[in-house]
Amino acid sequence: MELTLTPNQVAFRDRLRGWLPGALADHARAADKARRDHEAVQGTPPTGHDAEALDFAAEIAWERRLHDAGWSGLHWPEDYGGRGLGITEHYLAMSELGAAMAPEGANNIGRELVGPILLARGSEDQKRRFVPRIVACDDIWCQGFSEPQAGSDLAGVRTRARRDGDTWRIEGQKVWTSYAQHAQWCILIARTDTDAPKHKGLTLFLVPMDAPGLTCRPIRQITGKHTFNELFLDDVAVTDDLRLGPVDEGWSVAMGVLAFERGTTRLYRQARFAEELRRMTALLGDRADPARIGRLHARLEVLRAHNLRIVSRVSAGERIGAEASLQKLAWSELHMDMLRDAQEMAGTDFLAHEDWAGFRYAYLQAQAETVYAGSTEVQLTILADRILNLPREPRGDMA
Ligand SMILES: Cc1cc2nc3c(=O)[nH]c(=O)nc-3n(C[C@H](O)[C@H](O)[C@H](O)COP(=O)(O)OP(=O)(O)OC[C@H]3O[C@@H](n4cnc5c(N)ncnc54)[C@H](O)[C@@H]3O)c2cc1C
Repeated sequence: MELTLTPNQVAFRDRLRGWLPGALADHARAADKARRDHEAVQGTPPTGHDAEALDFAAEIAWERRLHDAGWSGLHWPEDYGGRGLGITEHYLAMSELGAAMAPEGANNIGRELVGPILLARGSEDQKRRFVPRIVACDDIWCQGFSEPQAGSDLAGVRTRARRDGDTWRIEGQKVWTSYAQHAQWCILIARTDTDAPKHKGLTLFLVPMDAPGLTCRPIRQITGKHTFNELFLDDVAVTDDLRLGPVDEGWSVAMGVLAFERGTTRLYRQARFAEELRRMTALLGDRADPARIGRLHARLEVLRAHNLRIVSRVSAGERIGAEASLQKLAWSELHMDMLRDAQEMAGTDFLAHEDWAGFRYAYLQAQAETVYAGSTEVQLTILADRILNLPREPRGDMA
């Protein structure tokens, strides 16, 4: 299964392919210099919080480098800072970036979630105000959806927003909020009608992270890194122009766009995993079990074919809907299995040898990939319910 590319699309892909090696080398040099400068001042190599801050700054620098060279916002309208190209160009760029193992970027919530929701459902003022700044990576966004009692069952959110004239006053707690410590803005879902059924009476807000009453506390992950946080909202005031979509319709605003976007946002990963598998096989040498490696290649090809199917359907103006869950399930489970296979085949080297350091980190991170953006069990339930039309679970209230 292949895309038939127009001459312009081939030229586009070749331009990016030509630009990437030099840009990545410059990027690596700049990141290395920042680490050496830090070491020169501190007397020791950066560790812990300092190392994370430098890594984050490098990710931002990479996103800005992409923007300055014209490679960001590819399929977003030119009126809002995008390049006005199609989903095929977006797919080609994601495939090239993934195959080159380019950084995935630090503003993925802005790019993959907030931008598309704003473009589909934001007011004209909101689109003009926020979207170009996402394309340029001038604003970092976080996502305040999950709560202690509302993860898979997102409709269980208890954070309340009460109308007070032209202002909304928000009270509650969010958890697992990735990048909140770096973000300028948060897309937040809150309950605006406590009497309505669970999936109704929810509204989306765009909350400035420096709003009085908003506190962000770090949570450290199994990887040792601090990428997510708890958020506490104590009478946080947000003006009505920062409400996204109609009052009490936050659920359908978020879900309508998410179902479409889930299918197109992780296209980068198939190409990156293919490159990871190539590097992993080379490192394993004689220890590589051909049957396991073959199975992983086959699953990567299935994922690639699925990506192409989604791209061609989106190009034809079709909706993706629940089928996007198949893609989320496929990439996240494949990555976890691939790294588990690597660990089993490499044996103790996987745990201790410097060559495997990147894979060790990826192994831990892959556990989270089967949880965020909807856990494996939730994706399976969506597929069983909406694609296979199997009888519903008794609970039957999931996204
Ligand atoms: C690295 C990482 C980053 C994240 N970043 C963000 C973020 O930026 N913003 C944000 O809002 N959230 C974020 N999340 C939260 C994520 O969306 C939730 O963890 C996820 O929705 C699961 O919710 P939960 O943790 O409350 O688990 P629960 O919903 O309590 O689920 C616990 C277990 O039960 C299973 N389960 C739950 N319901 C069912 C069911 N009906 N049938 C079968 N099994 C079920 C789940 O699959 C899971 O294995 C992040 C999570 C991770 C791991």
